[in-house]
Amino acid sequence: MRLILLGPPGVGKGTQAQRLQDHYAIVHLSTGELLRDEIADGTDLGLHAKSFIDQGLLVPDQILLDMMNGRLQHTDCEAGFLLDGFPRTIPQAEGLTGILATLDQALNAVVCLTADREELIHRLLLRGKTSGRTDDNLAVIRQRLDVYRQQTEPLIDYYRANGLLVEVSGLGTIPEITERIINALDIQCLE
Ligand code: ADP
Repeated sequence: MRLILLGPPGVGKGTQAQRLQDHYAIVHLSTGELLRDEIADGTDLGLHAKSFIDQGLLVPDQILLDMMNGRLQHTDCEAGFLLDGFPRTIPQAEGLTGILATLDQALNAVVCLTADREELIHRLLLRGKTSGRTDDNLAVIRQRLDVYRQQTEPLIDYYRANGLLVEVSGLGTIPEITERIINALDIQCLE
């Protein structure tokens, strides 16, 4: 199974990704986590990325594409993967299509989780109290939601046009949402 998990900050991508990785026995690749690891390790890439992340802006496409091109070639991705936080722009999506073509792989589905802006801000502020993330504060949260709308939302139509899009509500309990995703994927992958 090769999946993309799409959706705004705070919708629960990371939480659901953990559960889906177990269910489908595939690797969960979170670009947010990969970038935070680079920052914690003090690498050049991490230092460069941090200046964008702390402002709620996206890290430049080429950095993400280079990082994911390398990562997707690891043998642990052969059995399938779940991408969380990538692609986030149309150029990244086009780049991903190219990477997968060279690997002779194709996506099975793009799951888009949805929730309204008020709920997202509420969840992110709550998370900010314990996450220790420098980008979980109100000013940066608003910026991240705006960036999502402008740069990432166009991917919904992009993948709908490819027949890959599966939309699932991100409201409800964690297990309920997982079940909804799995049911929707059962249908999508039969077609
Ligand atoms: P969120 O909760 O906003 O979905 P993530 O943990 O996925 O947070 O990502 C945190 C930050 O890392 C983003 O706000 C962005 O600055 C950067 N980032 C992550 N993935 C990408 C990407 N594909 N392209 C550009 N920047 C990214």
